Amino acid sequence: MGTQSTFNEDLQSAKSLADAALTEMSKYGVPATPPNYCVWYNYVAKAIAGLTRDIDERIALQKGFGWQANQALFERYFGTDVESAAVRKSGSQLKQTVGRVLLRLDAAGQDAVAFGETLVQAHGSLKTVPVIEGSKVQAVVHRLSGATNDMVKRNRDLETELRKSTDEITTLQDRLEQARREAFTDALTGIGNRRCFDLALVEHGERAANGELELCLLLIDIDHFKKFNDSYGHRIGDQVLKVVGGQLKQLSRGTDIAARYGGEEFALLLVGAPIDIAMRRADQLREALASQYLRNKATGDLYGQVTVSIGVAKYRMTDNVESFIGRADEALYQAKNTGRNRVIAEAA
Ligand code: GH3
Ligand code: MG
Ligand code: MG
Repeated sequence: MGTQSTFNEDLQSAKSLADAALTEMSKYGVPATPPNYCVWYNYVAKAIAGLTRDIDERIALQKGFGWQANQALFERYFGTDVESAAVRKSGSQLKQTVGRVLLRLDAAGQDAVAFGETLVQAHGSLKTVPVIEGSKVQAVVHRLSGATNDMVKRNRDLETELRKSTDEITTLQDRLEQARREAFTDALTGIGNRRCFDLALVEHGERAANGELELCLLLIDIDHFKKFNDSYGHRIGDQVLKVVGGQLKQLSRGTDIAARYGGEEFALLLVGAPIDIAMRRADQLREALASQYLRNKATGDLYGQVTVSIGVAKYRMTDNVESFIGRADEALYQAKNTGRNRVIAEAA
């Protein structure tokens, strides 16, 4: 009987927490994916102090909850990959640091007690000892000033320790932020990586499937890149990847997601753009690359043109992520087949 009623109560509170979580999520435009739900359930339950603080802060600063923020929140508190490994590592370092400070505080507290006792004793001595007995007064004063000096030194040590701890915490926070950024960045080109692209695609794909926004994809593949690598070497090849990544970045607007999709393939996700705009942007990119002759700054060697082929598709309400990418890929294949250095739209 008792067990049953506890269970009902738990079920009841779980239900109201679930309601509260979903209400908050819809209030802040957070898609109800399982990871997001996990984050917000714990938030309304106030189960994890750090999580509560992070979300409250974002709300207070009106930072919003974009897919990157949502992803970061989940991974920070529930993830199992590199990033949360960094969090765990930092967490344990932080605990050690705080532990050290607490020990110092404790020692200081004990000093304070001892100091207080010294004062009481001294006070007693002063009351019972006639003032004229100068030497005794001196002894008391001496004891008092000795205790005071000890106290001052302890406080100074404590302050140093606290300052050091604060610096360490700042370093840890910076490192954490960096780990978070790196997890979404392609190291060679500095634009988004595949993971960044996949996550963005899932989030925006969902909204496109609901008819909330137009979503277009450019799949970009460097032409004859293997030949380029073979002629000039892998390292020069890498420089070319940087050039293409840089051009893509330069062409990106606020809500676009530019990413290195794989080896010598890139992707640009245009959020809120119709197909004609996407086609125009694709041609701008193609043109910008085709019109430059690459040269080695140090040696003056000329490498010639680097061209790209681009396939473009627009998300349909019947699409899923795979079918969407599939049509862009098919268009890219057509661009290669019809001579390269060109932009082809998906088949109608
Ligand atoms: P196509 O015009 O049909 O795309 O020809 P391609 O030579 O570009 O295509 P293919 O897929 O045959 O070759 C792609 C090459 O890209 C093979 C690989 O050596 C090179 N590649 C992939 N990733 C990297 C990278 O990170 N750095 C460098 N330098 N080369 C890479
Ligand atoms: Mg390729
Ligand atoms: Mg290629």
